[in-house]
Amino acid sequence: MTQPFLPGQMMDYPLTIDRILEHANQLYSSKRIITKQADGSFHQYTYADLYKRVKRLGNVLHRLGVRPGDRVATFSWNNYQHLELYYGIPGAGAVCHTLNIRLSADQLIYIINHAEDKLIFVDASLVPMLEAIADKIKEVKNFIILNAPTGMKTKLPYVLNYEELLMGTSEEFEWLSTDESMAMGLCYTSGTTGHPKGVLYSHRSMFLHTYGINLANCFGFVSSDVVMPVVPQFHAQAWGLPYACAMVGADIVMPAMHLAAAPLADTIEKMHVSIAAGVPTLWTGLYQELKANPRDLSKLRTLIVGGSAMPRSLIEAFEKELNVKVVHAWGMTEMSPVGTVSNLQDKHLALSNEEKWDIKAMQGYPVSGVEIRIVDEEGLILPWDGKSVGELQVRGPWVVKRYFKQDPDTVADNFTKDGWFKTGDVASVSSDGYMKITDRTKDLIKSGGEWISSVELENSLVAHPKVREAAVIAVPDEKWGERPLAIVIHASPDHPADRVELMDHLAKKFAKIWLPGKFVFVTEIPKTSVGKIDKKVLRQRYKEGTLV
Ligand code: ADP
Repeated sequence: MTQPFLPGQMMDYPLTIDRILEHANQLYSSKRIITKQADGSFHQYTYADLYKRVKRLGNVLHRLGVRPGDRVATFSWNNYQHLELYYGIPGAGAVCHTLNIRLSADQLIYIINHAEDKLIFVDASLVPMLEAIADKIKEVKNFIILNAPTGMKTKLPYVLNYEELLMGTSEEFEWLSTDESMAMGLCYTSGTTGHPKGVLYSHRSMFLHTYGINLANCFGFVSSDVVMPVVPQFHAQAWGLPYACAMVGADIVMPAMHLAAAPLADTIEKMHVSIAAGVPTLWTGLYQELKANPRDLSKLRTLIVGGSAMPRSLIEAFEKELNVKVVHAWGMTEMSPVGTVSNLQDKHLALSNEEKWDIKAMQGYPVSGVEIRIVDEEGLILPWDGKSVGELQVRGPWVVKRYFKQDPDTVADNFTKDGWFKTGDVASVSSDGYMKITDRTKDLIKSGGEWISSVELENSLVAHPKVREAAVIAVPDEKWGERPLAIVIHASPDHPADRVELMDHLAKKFAKIWLPGKFVFVTEIPKTSVGKIDKKVLRQRYKEGTLV
């Protein structure tokens, strides 16, 4: 029978994660993986060491009864053992399920049982959190402790010691990741509405995502880079950075639990970090630390920022005052996670700095491989004119197709009939493809029939010199339906901002209807488990009358 097309004649070569590690071991065996230890010292070894230990881990997993498709969980900081699990679990054909260490006990119980995790690898410092829920997660066969101090005691049942297990096995192991369509990773969204939802990555999707983010017009790591993922390994696979580093032989610096601004600044300076990645709130703190206690940042070339909108004023502050380039990216757990990136292009080079920062504050253009579109409430596709605003939908080889074990009746809530994923974000796209998020659907404020963007108000508020952090939420209003309420932390208690000057500041940019009727000044704004402003908690506090 004749084929309707001429098939290509290329090898059927599986895009599996073990290929990345094999490549790193062959080409970059002496490049380093550095981890800050609990006592503040640095552990350092090479990709060759990583490779050998991952092979041993493959044997350990097999001996513990892990079979292809099984879910194996991690509960840890960013450290070299966690990196070994990133390669070892998928290499053994299983699924690396990264548990978020900041979730509540109830959420953890739900996720572990929903995923049917067979083993949990847990850092010794985090054991108490699992002890508290151990009797409710019955399917877990063993808890394997990383960094266990000698003589460690725990109430966890069926406990094993990671180092002892590795010591007792061979470095010979044949990868069991034989097919690129096999699942290799599982990550749950933080569940701001309802139960957390699981996203099951395949070897192929993660491999292609790694290529995508390594493009020169995305993050473009090179072998001379020293990359510090501050974004946790449990937050959307540390944005894929651990795989991207191995693909090009970049050194990796893991900060473990040392995530406050001062120790981060110390690590950047001491380890000559060239690229650091994390959410904006982290960089607000780092900026203040660096201004108060300057460090040598001559090696730091780029900050990668995503997870929530990076305020333009903070981009400007890093670039102008500290000479550190900011790369703003947008993504979701559902997208492995990188979707768009706001790099400048050659056509922008002649622009003024002010105009460049305007572009960088947008969420940017889609990484090759990802397609984006915006649609109105009826699902009609809107033009890329920089003005039309609609729901952002995406598709591509590293975008989720279904949530893990999703009830078929709910699939239409998240996916269109023609195969696009509904992000729940609201955005516009410029004629040359730069996307700008105006809000999450659930955070938009509808006032007197007009949509108000909480993100734009927040970005403008934090640009005021007397404001350190700001959040804007919708509160019910009899006349207007909803009105924006601004919650503000002063930059300094000695020079507090007042409502009138902040209103004047906003009035320069926004129509009157956009201006928040009320300001609340606080000393702390609640954050989600991945460091974003927790508007659900703020709305709840307002409802209870405790936001005053
Ligand atoms: P969670 O849903 O648990 O917060 P994700 O990290 O997957 O976890 O969140 C994805 C969401 O984060 C996006 O849908 C978007 O609303 C927001 N987001 C991510 N990056 C940016 C960004 N650069 N600017 C604005 N919002 C962002």
